Amino acid sequence: MTRIAIIGAGISGLATAHAIERLAAERSLNVSVTVLEREARTGGKIWSIREEGYLCEWGPNGFLDSKPMTLELCERLGISDQLARSNDNARKRFIYSQGELHRLPENGPMFLQSNLISWRGKLRLAGELFVPPRRDDVDETLAEFARRRLGPEALDKLIGPMVSGIFAGDPETMSLQSCFPRIRELEREYGGLLRAMLKLAKKKKAERKAGKEVSSAAGPGGVLTSFVDGIQSLTNATSARLAGKVRTDAAVVALRPHAGGWELELATGEKLDVELVVSAAPAHALGELLQPLDQELAGLVSDIPYATMNVICCGYARERIARDLDGFGYLIPRKEGRSILGTLWDSSIFPQRAPEGHVLLRSMMGGATNPAAIDLTDAEVLARTQSDLRDIMGITAKPDFVRIFRHPQAIPQYLSGHARRLAAIDDRLQAHAGLFVTGNAFFGVGLNDCVHAANRAAEQVAKRLSVGS
Ligand SMILES: Cc1cc2nc3c(=O)[nH]c(=O)nc-3n(C[C@H](O)[C@H](O)[C@H](O)COP(=O)(O)OP(=O)(O)OC[C@H]3O[C@@H](n4cnc5c(N)ncnc54)[C@H](O)[C@@H]3O)c2cc1C
Repeated sequence: MTRIAIIGAGISGLATAHAIERLAAERSLNVSVTVLEREARTGGKIWSIREEGYLCEWGPNGFLDSKPMTLELCERLGISDQLARSNDNARKRFIYSQGELHRLPENGPMFLQSNLISWRGKLRLAGELFVPPRRDDVDETLAEFARRRLGPEALDKLIGPMVSGIFAGDPETMSLQSCFPRIRELEREYGGLLRAMLKLAKKKKAERKAGKEVSSAAGPGGVLTSFVDGIQSLTNATSARLAGKVRTDAAVVALRPHAGGWELELATGEKLDVELVVSAAPAHALGELLQPLDQELAGLVSDIPYATMNVICCGYARERIARDLDGFGYLIPRKEGRSILGTLWDSSIFPQRAPEGHVLLRSMMGGATNPAAIDLTDAEVLARTQSDLRDIMGITAKPDFVRIFRHPQAIPQYLSGHARRLAAIDDRLQAHAGLFVTGNAFFGVGLNDCVHAANRAAEQVAKRLSVGS
């Protein structure tokens, strides 16, 4: 029997445990998995809080169905029937610019009609066709890439908001290669993004004509998917289906190698002996554990920065909001100088998230470009949110329901050089047999990416077990 400890019961740790048990069963490997979680609950960033009839997501809202990993996990867990797909409103996304909410164009004609980008900016975007591709190994920032290919206006009004929506990040520092590897590939493969879009659209048309299954689009796309009872159904079910133990209030405070395995010390003083360890803890937590063991590795891991975030849930009686709420919500370019990064109209895309006759809006504040927002008092956070909601959506009513969630270390930032850092981490890990690393700090922050990385970590563990047996 090989004992395996997994540190952290967020989606990464739980999905790793689940995948290890599955692979072990398939390959007749004898394992005993224990997941150790610092907090009193499992889920990590995932936490669906139901209060006064509202369903507030503390962290993630859902995942996109354009990648298969999370859907496959749901299938294996037998919870596909609990999935809730966002309705058609989710396709209508807005950008707030110069005093107005502009619908984000979904196609060429919509783009030409939109007032979001000036004619000058549109021409510059069309000029992308003539920008020569870059195929060297320079790890460009998202801002460098966007300025070079799409022009400064597209950076401000399209790329910047997208980066803050996904990473709460600053495009001036984030790595294109690590944040959006597919976009980098498209430039390399097709010579540019417009060329790629045109060729992929042509390919899709041909596939459709031939009655074939249509290949996926270039962009992030997909339908935002969650569960009737919120995204926490995913981690609850993963945890419940494990054969091994999930221990909460079990913070790992030390990690010591010994002949044939590892000793883990918990905050309670309890010690656990295992053969293999998988860390699915955030980078800062793993860095602390590694410090006495390998300072270089600890430094490489700890230096991955995190953006802060406040999540502000506001509930209103529907009739108190004068405008329509048909849409996903909006993001705000940094140049607009607002306090919030944007607002998701949660109950418009998942109607069961607010009581009958009410709506739930969830605004985000902070991110890499406004780290000080985490230090504001609740009263200040709410006042700034209300002021932005008034100016942007015309909401003058006070919310009937308010919840403010704080994430001092919300989302890891993949800065330029992240891929080099990952290679160096991988290299140093070779010196620590039986220690594996996964989690959102390394290979993608979306839930699909976390599940994908968990599957990969489990595969590494299973391979190691097969070699050992
Ligand atoms: C506000 C917000 C909104 C988001 N929205 C979306 C979204 O809509 N869609 C999407 O796909 N992604 C979204 N994300 C990103 C996504 O939520 C995360 O990337 C993902 O949940 C991270 O999972 P994880 O398991 O890697 O890390 P975590 O969830 O952070 O889990 C790590 C766990 O390790 C535990 N831990 C730490 N130290 C120790 C220790 N010493 N011993 C034991 N346990 C320890 C922690 O307590 C925690 O439970 C969002 C994130 C935030 C913050």
